[in-house]
Amino acid sequence: MSLQYLSTRGQAPTLDFEGVLLAGLAKDGGLYLPQALPHFSAAELHAMRGMSYAELATTVIAPFVEGSIDRDTLEGLVTDAYRGFRHQAIAPVIQLDHDQWLLELFHGPTLAFKDFALQLLGRLLDHVLSRRGEKVVIMGATSGDTGSAAIEGCRHCEHVDIFILYPDGRVSEVQRRQMTTVAGANIHNVAIRGNFDDCQALVKASFVAEPFLPEGRSLVAVNSINWARIMAQIVYYFYAAFAVGGPDRPVNFSVPTGNFGDIYAGYLAHRMGLPVNNLVIATNRNDVLHRMLTTGTYGRQPIEASLSPSMDISISSNFERLLFDLYDGDAAQINQMMVDFALGEICLSDAALSRAQKRFTSARVSDEETCDEIRLMWERTGQLLDPHTAIGTRAARLCARDGEGPMVTLATAHPAKFPAAVARAETGQEPVLPDHLADLFEREERFDTLDNDLATVQAYMANMCL
Ligand SMILES: *Cc1c(COP(=O)(O)O)cnc(C)c1O
Repeated sequence: MSLQYLSTRGQAPTLDFEGVLLAGLAKDGGLYLPQALPHFSAAELHAMRGMSYAELATTVIAPFVEGSIDRDTLEGLVTDAYRGFRHQAIAPVIQLDHDQWLLELFHGPTLAFKDFALQLLGRLLDHVLSRRGEKVVIMGATSGDTGSAAIEGCRHCEHVDIFILYPDGRVSEVQRRQMTTVAGANIHNVAIRGNFDDCQALVKASFVAEPFLPEGRSLVAVNSINWARIMAQIVYYFYAAFAVGGPDRPVNFSVPTGNFGDIYAGYLAHRMGLPVNNLVIATNRNDVLHRMLTTGTYGRQPIEASLSPSMDISISSNFERLLFDLYDGDAAQINQMMVDFALGEICLSDAALSRAQKRFTSARVSDEETCDEIRLMWERTGQLLDPHTAIGTRAARLCARDGEGPMVTLATAHPAKFPAAVARAETGQEPVLPDHLADLFEREERFDTLDNDLATVQAYMANMCL
């Protein structure tokens, strides 16, 4: 019997892995979760130490895809997904201080951790779709990193057309060029005359709208509500823990957080048996999660632009998955809370809040502190950090507790992706793009610019599908 997935809101049918891969959001508006989480014993964890990244990924992911994808096929897809990474370790762990470490997640094609999930997601989709003889259309909105990672992950997929909407003039030039310079008949970059929220609204509306695509095509989501993305990210928590002495001693992680997808994967690694003490939610001035964890109140505030744009978010969608756990899987309760949240803010019960505080701590880091941290880390360690990662190392120090063991900060992006922020830190260093992107500014760009209008966008998509 294969692993089944259920919705956090309890009113959508349960699905197997193939179903959640193709579904994205559940029909009741909830997010999919495995009905029972796989668990590794101490002996199994010890046997996993020393595995290569691809071996470890196969071992961790296999129970999640059971019944949909056999182990040999999975191993082939995983190996292929990480072959293009520029570091042999795939996810190298660097020492910063006697108990501070950095997990470098930016050696993939687009220089951010999102490649870990999206390189695999593209291959999983193509495998499943070729078996079914179907084609799908990926539609996503991006404020920067997700778009390029999704395009790189799906550019070779024969069964996928991909449409990425981004706000015209509001993504960095490196980020835009990483999307618009990728050639492929199935890749469509769409600049929307509007802001990121407008792009997101067009995507959401398209998922609930009447079918507008050619017969037989369905829409697939690529943001982190897609379970397969979370699943792929669980792996590097195991990998990093083993590199710093796990599972024989518990490890702590500091995670630059926006949509709560990445850190939630760390929480799942812990629940699957990995000894973890403290998970640090590192936020910028958009601190919805920091406020939640310190006050118990979860409520959105307007987004403010910061030096770490990939964390500029007013709602952390994946927090709903944690809530489901904090309330012991009471889907009716989660459903009600999300209805209330749509109208304003919600308050966690004392029991739920203290459960969250047992595993998570949090810190909020300003732009000024981010620059200060980039400079400080350069001076002390010779590592040039990107602004997101710097928020992580600063929060790691603020939240570290004596005797808790090693602290690993996730380096979520390469500094050359955010040269303006790095320049503001005045280290005297200019981050250099890796070789494969060295000519990024000479490459030809391809995109279309459309009005912020649902009918216009849908007509364009229907027309461009191969
Ligand atoms: C997407 C992103 C984040 C935030 O990750 P979430 O899973 O949304 O919490 C942090 N840093 C960088 C560089 C990112 O691209």
